Amino acid sequence: MTKPAVFLDRDGVLNIEAGYIHHVEDLHLIPGVAKAVRKLNDQQIFCCLVSNQSGPARGYYGDNHVQALHRRLCDLLHAEAGAKLDALYYCPYLSPPEGGTDPEFTRWSTWRKPNTGMLVAAAWEHDLDLRQSFVVGDKATDVDMAHNAGCVGILVQTGYGSSVLSGAYQHHTRPDYIAPDLAVAVDWIFQQMGTL
Ligand SMILES: [Mg+2]
Repeated sequence: MTKPAVFLDRDGVLNIEAGYIHHVEDLHLIPGVAKAVRKLNDQQIFCCLVSNQSGPARGYYGDNHVQALHRRLCDLLHAEAGAKLDALYYCPYLSPPEGGTDPEFTRWSTWRKPNTGMLVAAAWEHDLDLRQSFVVGDKATDVDMAHNAGCVGILVQTGYGSSVLSGAYQHHTRPDYIAPDLAVAVDWIFQQMGTL
């Protein structure tokens, strides 16, 4: 039977937005996120990372570095609250007009947000019902991806979220809910699901 999922953006939602993170030790969790992920885990809600990571396409670092960052992310979530991500998807690809230069990763991709490729892949591989699922992000493109796939789109005010809302970053978007941070977003998701 298909199940709902909560899809989480990475930078500005789970870890503190710090641009391109060249050193793994510069990845730090936003306060309260490990507990919030743990609450999803405790309710057996499928919890899935979906992240645009264009560093490899821009030639900033290799794909293995992105994987090292994700190992640190998972280690920190576990150490702080015994929290875990059930699956991790990321898009290392970038089109030439967007700034892709590395031949291995420079191409258009259905996985690049606001396209829905990562959500569709996750739904196939893990039996998820996208129409019952939620996306939590800090960019207009996260909310756009959510709506493109028929998910509920939540914008958090951490990371770029407040700049998106003020109109200083990206474009106007209409999230289904605006939360100060992931912890509040998760509480709202539980309300919508009738879980708590
Ligand atoms: Mg982000």
